[in-house]
Amino acid sequence: MAGRKRAKRSSVKKTDILIIGAGLTGLSCAFKLEKKRADYLLAEKENWAGGLARSFRKDGFTFDYSGHLLHLRWPETSKFILDSLGKNAKPLKRKARIYSSGKFTAYPFQMNLKGLPAKVRSECVEGFLKARRAFPEVKAENFRDWCLQTFGKGISKHFFFPYNAKLWNYPLEKLSTDWMGQFVPVPKTEEVLYGAYKDDVKGAGYNHDFYYPETGGINALPAAIASGVERLSLDSELISLNAANKTARLRNLGNVRYKKLLSTIPLKYLAEKVEKAPETVRKNAELLEHNQVYILNLGVRKCPLPQHWIYFPEKEFVFYRAGVYTNFSPSSAPRGFSSLYVETASKSGEFIDLKKAEGRIVKNLVSIGAVKDEDDILTSMWLKVPCAYVIYNEARKKALPELLSWFEKRGISSAGRYGAWKYSFMEESVKEGFETAEKLLKR
Ligand SMILES: Cc1cc2nc3c(=O)[nH]c(=O)nc-3n(C[C@H](O)[C@H](O)[C@H](O)COP(=O)(O)OP(=O)(O)OC[C@H]3O[C@@H](n4cnc5c(N)ncnc54)[C@H](O)[C@@H]3O)c2cc1C
Repeated sequence: MAGRKRAKRSSVKKTDILIIGAGLTGLSCAFKLEKKRADYLLAEKENWAGGLARSFRKDGFTFDYSGHLLHLRWPETSKFILDSLGKNAKPLKRKARIYSSGKFTAYPFQMNLKGLPAKVRSECVEGFLKARRAFPEVKAENFRDWCLQTFGKGISKHFFFPYNAKLWNYPLEKLSTDWMGQFVPVPKTEEVLYGAYKDDVKGAGYNHDFYYPETGGINALPAAIASGVERLSLDSELISLNAANKTARLRNLGNVRYKKLLSTIPLKYLAEKVEKAPETVRKNAELLEHNQVYILNLGVRKCPLPQHWIYFPEKEFVFYRAGVYTNFSPSSAPRGFSSLYVETASKSGEFIDLKKAEGRIVKNLVSIGAVKDEDDILTSMWLKVPCAYVIYNEARKKALPELLSWFEKRGISSAGRYGAWKYSFMEESVKEGFETAEKLLKR
């Protein structure tokens, strides 16, 4: 587990740069500042560092907050991540599937219709060709219309609508389209036809190659970065922020005066911590929405599925995605056993009866042959991500720039997946951590 230093009461009262949150964004920023010998303090609420890139050990199994796979794209951060992991970095080629209409098909769905029942495949191909022939006068402004314009009725009905409804828990006609660029591959007509009648279209999408630590789960990455960060204070939750006096009140540390601040905690909740926040700040924060994700990790006797992960668009499956850790890291289970994860999403704050959900999940897993029966399950662990996917809607478009600019004017940068309130990934967090360090040193 990364970083294990505990805060000493009142040990630090002043710092040039205060960083809130020791996930990958905060750790990467601190790492850069350490190298530049800057005066900084990294304060983390939990008694571990790593944020969502943390791993847990239970009964000989290693679990993450579901599959946390390193899809690398930029030279500087790729090199940094791979150097940090050293020999522990294992390169892998995606083995992902979609399970629908009783069949496993290759990812992405829209390019690999071949394995579907003939009727479903025709519906998808005909809908796609019809959508391509239509030249809509108005460009789609919401996700639902965009799916229909881009993929047609069949592909939307069999994959994009049900899958995204399950993931976002938000009306698709109110979801904007500015999050999908890199996450939703748009095929050419010849690719759809090839994938429907000839063979799988290989290598499409952003995630065809990835890395994962050979041992230690994804926590190996934050642990490696944290080893180069001296001033990390655990158990030091930000309680409140006096933006006018540049003073933060932290659990176990008391008041800390700073010159500049980087916050990596969810922007919505940072705004709530501001003392005497103006109404515009409070109102804008209220406009930001997100879902919640519950992950069920399972240690099982043996999972025969060969995939790394599988998407489940259909309603009868409680989860939207499931994966097999041991297929990308055999060391995450005792020899001969397997470890799995299952991801379920719901509305923020919605009560989920985990016992009931677990029963349904196990039935679903048995139905696709992932486990033989209930007795195959040796251990389980639920993990909750209360703020998991931020909702891209019209309100976000207005509220986000206003909030970020209010904080910036007061020497506060807000970065990372939740600090910048966006759909992003681990490498981007490292990149933003580095960039923010440079920015804070210049100002
Ligand atoms: C279900 C799921 C699956 C994902 N899969 C992948 C994947 O396969 N590949 C990939 O690249 N990315 C994936 N991601 C995204 C990845 O987890 C994030 O991009 C990255 O870990 C975010 O790092 P961060 O530092 O910005 O935020 P976080 O990891 O959220 O770190 C923020 C830190 O702030 C701390 N904190 C919160 N409140 C306070 C407070 N008041 N005071 C002090 N500290 C506080 C938290 O404890 C945490 O340590 C996934 C995300 C989710 C939700």
